[in-house]
Amino acid sequence: MNSPSFLQGNSLAARDARSMIHAYTNLSTHLTDGPLIIESGKGVHVYDDGGKEYIEGLAGLWCASFGFGEEELINAAIEQMRKLPFYHTFASKSTEPSIRLSEKLLEIAPVEFSRVFFANSGSEANDTVVKLVWYYNNSLGRPEKKKIISRQKGYHGVTVAAASLTGLPPLHNDFDLPIKNILHTSCPHYYRYGKDGETEEEFASRMADDLEKLILKEGPDTVAAFIAEPIMGAGGVIIPPTTYFEKIQAVLKKYGVLMIADEVICGFGRTGQMWGSQTFGIQPDILSCAKALSSAYLPISAVMVSQDIFDGMVKQSEKHGAFAHGFTYSGHPVPAAVGLRTMELMEERNILGHVRHVAKRFNERFNALADHPLVGEVRSMGLIGAIELVADKKTKRPFDPKYKAGPKTAQAMQDAGVISRAVAGDNLALCPPLIITEAEIDEMFDRFGKGLDDVAAMAFRENWR
Ligand code: PMP
Repeated sequence: MNSPSFLQGNSLAARDARSMIHAYTNLSTHLTDGPLIIESGKGVHVYDDGGKEYIEGLAGLWCASFGFGEEELINAAIEQMRKLPFYHTFASKSTEPSIRLSEKLLEIAPVEFSRVFFANSGSEANDTVVKLVWYYNNSLGRPEKKKIISRQKGYHGVTVAAASLTGLPPLHNDFDLPIKNILHTSCPHYYRYGKDGETEEEFASRMADDLEKLILKEGPDTVAAFIAEPIMGAGGVIIPPTTYFEKIQAVLKKYGVLMIADEVICGFGRTGQMWGSQTFGIQPDILSCAKALSSAYLPISAVMVSQDIFDGMVKQSEKHGAFAHGFTYSGHPVPAAVGLRTMELMEERNILGHVRHVAKRFNERFNALADHPLVGEVRSMGLIGAIELVADKKTKRPFDPKYKAGPKTAQAMQDAGVISRAVAGDNLALCPPLIITEAEIDEMFDRFGKGLDDVAAMAFRENWR
């Protein structure tokens, strides 16, 4: 942390605080605490401008799957930059990297999709998804079937429609969201919302019943789609209870509601399979992905759609002319070339096999934290997981927010040399680069545990309740 007088000087930190509005940052405390400036990175490590080394336990923002400084990806960008640094996909223009990446995505997709649309971020991908669902239903002559159901604590981004899909109150309050036609159903977090004596499967049935009740209340003719992350990420790393997606999809089928998989975090190996949809038996009609698509080296996201949806889009376009949607950088050849190289490296280096192998150690180390006095629940799968801090293990009572248990723990972990993040309250998440080794996993958890112990000592000293 910077010293309180840092603002007076002309350091980078002071210039930051005087010039920049930070994403997802308490703008008020940033003015007194300033930034952590990251200067370089190598493998799973990043280094700040004072030379301190950290393990990037969150792969940046759940995204840098190949870690930092992967020469193959850097070279893919440089080569494409030299050849053609920009072109677009409007009015039937195209480039080889975007064509090849579309083909690759269709080849590895979890179900048979028909076409790929490119955007720059997860939010843009999900805003596109909302518009495609509306466009498709207009093409079918059912202008009333427009509502999209997402879940409380789901995270789908921050643009106007994507933030509306997101089920976290801070993204709605003060921003006049959600927009109309976006609804939220129950969050499938068994530890938090399971009733006494209810089995995981019974809980999953209740979640599916909640969804069905909502569809019936709104009228099935008005509900177009349901969107879900296979594992909820920013909502706290919530792994669905067994049989959840099976039961949810039965309800969707019954009422002709599309299934949309938001694979922005789970896509490209995070759960030990290429897609979270494969891990949980999801059969999506539409899929959005981003982040690890380019190992985050350049911004790119994609939406894949079924044949039925594409046919509807073509029909609508026949009637009304151009499909009037697309970004200047949709299919940009440089991120597409990096994305393509990322997909090739996943195969050449057998990243899925590696993830499945090291995930055993990752999950063991998570499970070992279950007995820690501050930890209510540990949840992990593949190379993603979190601990949930509680004031009382028996009753699962959370800490009073005034103690800021989550953010203080993230800070203590950062001091101990691992970057984690407090998400959706007091959940500390880990989602490291997929290339992490067993030895690095051990080191990461040693530091994570040290941060946790430091906060436990603080909680005891200060008598947090
Ligand atoms: N969907 C999911 C599941 C995400 O985790 C995120 C970002 N964390 C988004 C969408 C939004 O992506 P972006 O920040 O690139 O807009």
